[in-house]
Amino acid sequence: MALEGIHHITAITGDAPRNVDFYACLLGLRLVKKTVNFDAPDVYHLYYGDETGTPGSILTFFEFPGAKPGRHGDAMIHTIEWRVASEAALAFWAARLGDANVATERDGGALHFADFEGLRHSLLAVPVDDPPLAAGATDIPPEHALLGFHGVLAYARVPERSAGLLRALGFERGGDTDPHWRVTGAERHAVLEYDPPPSERGRTSAGTIHHIAWSVADDDELRDYRARAMAAGAHATDIIDRQYFHSVYFREPSGILFELASRDIGFAYDEPVESLGEALKLPPQYEPLRDELERRLTPLRNPRTPVAS
Ligand code: ZN
Repeated sequence: MALEGIHHITAITGDAPRNVDFYACLLGLRLVKKTVNFDAPDVYHLYYGDETGTPGSILTFFEFPGAKPGRHGDAMIHTIEWRVASEAALAFWAARLGDANVATERDGGALHFADFEGLRHSLLAVPVDDPPLAAGATDIPPEHALLGFHGVLAYARVPERSAGLLRALGFERGGDTDPHWRVTGAERHAVLEYDPPPSERGRTSAGTIHHIAWSVADDDELRDYRARAMAAGAHATDIIDRQYFHSVYFREPSGILFELASRDIGFAYDEPVESLGEALKLPPQYEPLRDELERRLTPLRNPRTPVAS
């Protein structure tokens, strides 16, 4: 038993329509679920991913309409690393992002850029054995598509404080001074790297990352990893039903919010794979509020939904 890399990463946006433009239309991810924040149902929770919403490809956003861009600082994940197949893919993305007026920086086998609210991404041309997780956007050649997460970079003042918990969860590193922690499942692996934080305090808001979820098989594994985290000193929540997965949350000792999420339910739970993300989906407790919520939420068209003629 091992964590199967990353399940999903959740960030914050202040502008859901522009968020869909950036992640679905420009980056070519598929909007696989349009729902609401289960803890605050009057705002969106949007999920992007590969063609079927496979764990390892899922980037989600809570929308806080009008939220100002935040700032990355200590105890926050500051960059998302994605895999692409080749250096040619990096050149494709440099051109495509440039055409959309998104500044990029090429650094060897990596291409760095940020979204319109400052959320930072790096595309890495790294040879890996993990199955590729691509969406099928019509205007992106399949050989250049994003292929799922490689890892994340986080700021931590004293990252050594996290070592005990990470080991308890099965993370490994090359040596005692190696800042790269690696978690290796049967099919997928992921890297968590700690960097020294900037002096300015961080602020969680638009363009920053709220939490990272690591992938477990099912409720049995969720219980087992929850117990491991608690034995290593974490204060973990009970198991929470998130409709498309079950979750446990705790802060790791450097302050980053970790979630463990199960992959045995999935996004086809309440709509067919062919039409993922087209309708607003609500958990049963919010169905009675559907009319009101549909009036209050900014209308959002899934780019995959055919326009009625
Ligand atoms: Zn989550």
